[in-house]
Amino acid sequence: MSRYINKKFVKLEAYTPGEQPRDMQYVKLNTNESPFPPSAGVLRAIDKEQVSMLNLYPDPTCASLKDAIAGLYGVERKNVFVSNGSDDILNFFFMAFCDEGEHPVKFPAISYGFYQVYAELYATDYRKIPLKSDFSIRIEDYFGNDANVVIANPNAPTGIALTKYEVESIVKANPDRVVLIDEAYVDFGAQSSIELTKKYDNLLVVCTYSKSRSMAGARLGFAIGNEELIADLEKIKYSTNPYNINRLTMVAGVAAIADNEYYVANCKIIEENREYTQRELIKLGFRVTDSKANFIFANSDKVGGEELYLKLKERGVLVRHFSAPDICEYNRITVGTREQMDILLQKIKEILKEKEI
Ligand SMILES: *Cc1c(COP(=O)(O)O)cnc(C)c1O
Repeated sequence: MSRYINKKFVKLEAYTPGEQPRDMQYVKLNTNESPFPPSAGVLRAIDKEQVSMLNLYPDPTCASLKDAIAGLYGVERKNVFVSNGSDDILNFFFMAFCDEGEHPVKFPAISYGFYQVYAELYATDYRKIPLKSDFSIRIEDYFGNDANVVIANPNAPTGIALTKYEVESIVKANPDRVVLIDEAYVDFGAQSSIELTKKYDNLLVVCTYSKSRSMAGARLGFAIGNEELIADLEKIKYSTNPYNINRLTMVAGVAAIADNEYYVANCKIIEENREYTQRELIKLGFRVTDSKANFIFANSDKVGGEELYLKLKERGVLVRHFSAPDICEYNRITVGTREQMDILLQKIKEILKEKEI
């Protein structure tokens, strides 16, 4: 740290992304990316013509992209915000709607680590709400109308989902607060709350192309909500980075929506692979949560969480381990192809066998 840094940021603890190793080829099951490539339409969309126009700024209103997203979800362009990854939208949410006075925020104590980082970044008053012992969310804890609410649905890293009805009851109970539902993983079998944004002006649903749409490398996220909430986000965007979607990502984003069926089919495969892998893990003595996401959250009395993570890594399989005390015995395992899952299971069997000797 230099001695010039703004004193507000001296104690800030930045988010630690999952490992993105460059040293060797792992079976990479640690950052919830899709194992499938982008659709054929996306590959075609980024052509020489688009590349040759990189000297020109992209459309700051992102009209074509917003219209494609609006069409898919049955909303209007004014209800859609797009950004450079959904992390950026979370950033804008905290910047726009949370502060240390009248606008505190609460979120589950076990959830996506970035919520706390943004809360700290903007010196927001925040409360971390404990989960039940089975890692599920007690919705009544969010009924107070006393703070903005941020919930990942399905939650991360547990994969446990709320129903649309449960989300609605939270939104309804907080008429004077903004409720942000982070649907990064919703396409793998949970219920989306996007439709509720037509009925409630205090609900913002945030989605990403990074998981179900195989575009983590393109950095594209979107939010759907009441037009005034969206206008607030636009205000922040135009006050920070008006050209936040680059030209190539813009055309890729439009093409991916046109190829929606391809992604829906991929999500089905991931769901099947998740159920298969969970069954196999249970046979090996693991406990798993009821995940509706593209990852499995698992632990076992036969092998410690960190130990399993390290031993899998030695064998070329990368999973995500968190050191927080309440989840340190677990690993979060991205669901990949059937072949990747079989390698994972094979390595886990080897590790368990080694421990028996
Ligand atoms: C992956 C993830 C994001 C971030 O997605 P990007 O669009 O890649 O920035 C946001 N929220 C949750 C819960 C995630 O898991």
